[in-house]
Amino acid sequence: MAERILTGIKPTGQLTLGNYIGVLKHLHKEVDRGECFYFIADLHALTLPIEPEVLRQNSIDLACFYLAAGLDPKKVTLFLQSSVSAHAELNAIMQNYLYMGELSRMTQFKDKSAKMKENAIGLGLFAYPVLMASDIILYDASIVPVGEDQIQHVELTRDLVNRINNRYGDILTMPKAEMRKVGARIMSLSDPTKKMSKSDPKGDIFLKDDLAVIRKKIMSAVTDSGSEVKYDVENKPGISNLLTIYAALKEISIEEAEKEFVNSRYGDFKKAVADVVCAEMEVFQKKYREILESKAYEEVLKEGAIKANKIANITLKRVKKAVGLLNID
Ligand code: ATP
Ligand code: MG
Repeated sequence: MAERILTGIKPTGQLTLGNYIGVLKHLHKEVDRGECFYFIADLHALTLPIEPEVLRQNSIDLACFYLAAGLDPKKVTLFLQSSVSAHAELNAIMQNYLYMGELSRMTQFKDKSAKMKENAIGLGLFAYPVLMASDIILYDASIVPVGEDQIQHVELTRDLVNRINNRYGDILTMPKAEMRKVGARIMSLSDPTKKMSKSDPKGDIFLKDDLAVIRKKIMSAVTDSGSEVKYDVENKPGISNLLTIYAALKEISIEEAEKEFVNSRYGDFKKAVADVVCAEMEVFQKKYREILESKAYEEVLKEGAIKANKIANITLKRVKKAVGLLNID
């Protein structure tokens, strides 16, 4: 069987440059390696409070972003998680094979719940990794392109696959997370010790920001003491983050980026970063607007759901049979 590649993004807010550099920008290249399944993780978006209309709009935006990033809908399957009911069904089975202790050790849960009152933390936020594991397992995905923050969840999925395969025979495919060498963790521009994250928008560049706003955000990004443009995450987190953004977008190594700026001052360096980001976003935003206006995403999501349902239901049946549930249809 050809490799299957799967990844999802939550429509929880406006996408950031972190999402773009960490995953979105590169997804179109994966078609050369196998069958691609990319989805809008709308069920996951419900794990934190969100207005229905906002969720709907974000989901449409995300479909357009995927397509604007160059995905060819004839070559990849693009779909809404909620339009494939097997995700929720497999989740109901898999939740019995992951344990409270391991779920409570997930850093995403710890980070997100730390900001909430205890009686406002939904069970869904806690159980998020179960659904994410189900997402991956359903498509027999062997490659899961993600940013660094999702590595822990994919590792947990691997533990689960081992557990199930040991108990019921080799019925599930073992997934592997894949990160970008440059750009797997883009940091906030206002606090470069924190991840750029769309549900914590201070210091983010949003993919829909006006180019003038993007330029302003980069020019006023927090930098570090000293004057040398050098990659040193510990002592120069701000400059290192900007170097990463520059290198990732130009698809060069950090060392090559450093060399370009050996004699530059911070101001000139920031201007060069802003130029690169704005040039890329200008093209991306134009495509996004065209797709949004043409509503081309509607047909793509419909067809994607048909294809995804077919594949997902095969795995679901296999799992149901293995654990002892009767398949009567
Ligand atoms: P949220 O705060 O709602 O979790 P998010 O920005 O982390 O938002 P997700 O939908 O959780 O977005 O993640 C989508 C993909 O983007 C994942 O593969 C994730 O690892 C990746 N990603 C998220 N933030 C970054 C970042 N700052 N740098 C690189 N990749 C990122
Ligand atoms: Mg996240």
